Amino acid sequence: MSIIVENITKLYGSQKALDNVSFKIKAGEIVGLLGPNGAGKSTLMKIITCFIPPSDGRVSVNGFDIFEQSIEVRKKVGYLPENNPLYLDLYIKEYLEFVAGLYAIPNKKSRVKEMIDLIGIEKEQNKKIGALSKGYRQRVGLAQALIHDPEVLILDEPTSGLDPNQLIEIRELIKNVGKEKTVMLSTHIMQEVEAICSRAIIIDQGKIVADDSTKNLSEGSSNIQIVEVEFDSNIQQKQILSIKDVHQANKQKGNSWILQANVTEDIRPLVFEFAVKNNLKVLSMQKSEQSLEKVFQKLTKKKTGK
Ligand code: ADP
Ligand code: MG
Repeated sequence: MSIIVENITKLYGSQKALDNVSFKIKAGEIVGLLGPNGAGKSTLMKIITCFIPPSDGRVSVNGFDIFEQSIEVRKKVGYLPENNPLYLDLYIKEYLEFVAGLYAIPNKKSRVKEMIDLIGIEKEQNKKIGALSKGYRQRVGLAQALIHDPEVLILDEPTSGLDPNQLIEIRELIKNVGKEKTVMLSTHIMQEVEAICSRAIIIDQGKIVADDSTKNLSEGSSNIQIVEVEFDSNIQQKQILSIKDVHQANKQKGNSWILQANVTEDIRPLVFEFAVKNNLKVLSMQKSEQSLEKVFQKLTKKKTGK
């Protein structure tokens, strides 16, 4: 596994930006993190890249823990932050050499030249960053993220604000560099995920609401099964997650839980068996199903309605 996120919660003061988020990303996957504004995408990416600590939970990148081995994590990860903060007064080469210096890359000049070729900014290479169009600035941002040849690439809304041509070019670029890397990119556009990613993780209000292949997602064939269950006494989340096919378990009031599964077979019998085995009584249990497309529609509708 390349990225392992386990039960991450992030509080900003009393506001919960991420609520018990867990997933795993295999080496070589290109995963889209999809969600409306304020869903928690940037927060999650900042945690994975060691820019901010989570309030709770664990993350490892290529086997390195973000708390204990953050320097190793940073060496393995390339990060394009949201709004791509660049030094507008610097020349492209100057800036990239500065970044190369931060990573103590030998032969800085030749590495910068390789990057300029790779991302296709030869013609612009003698300009200041401030003189570049948004599309070219994004390319410089990508060069900055790639310069130390990281195994993992984290791109926060890499195509936002680009015109349609720039958008296609940057997508192609990401697909190309993504062939040899693990990539996670965030977006609030479903088509973007379809164009670039093999898998999508949808988040809303800090919680994962779906995690599936882009194929299932676009065909609308994937159903998320949601089971609400109330037990008579307390149980640990870890135990609930041991129920086969349950990939999310969120505690509600009292001893109620919302469980999610991405399988077509009814998981209620399994939940019932689990209760019996653990000496719990089931006070109530209901199931509902939603297609990923519906879930996404609901999310985007809420966004435009704000
Ligand atoms: P997204 O990238 O999906 O738009 P963010 O991760 O930026 O979402 O934000 C998630 C939530 O956390 C939002 O409600 C946002 O207002 C809040 N938030 C983000 N950063 C901070 C911060 N530094 N301080 C307080 N609240 C924040
Ligand atoms: Mg964001």
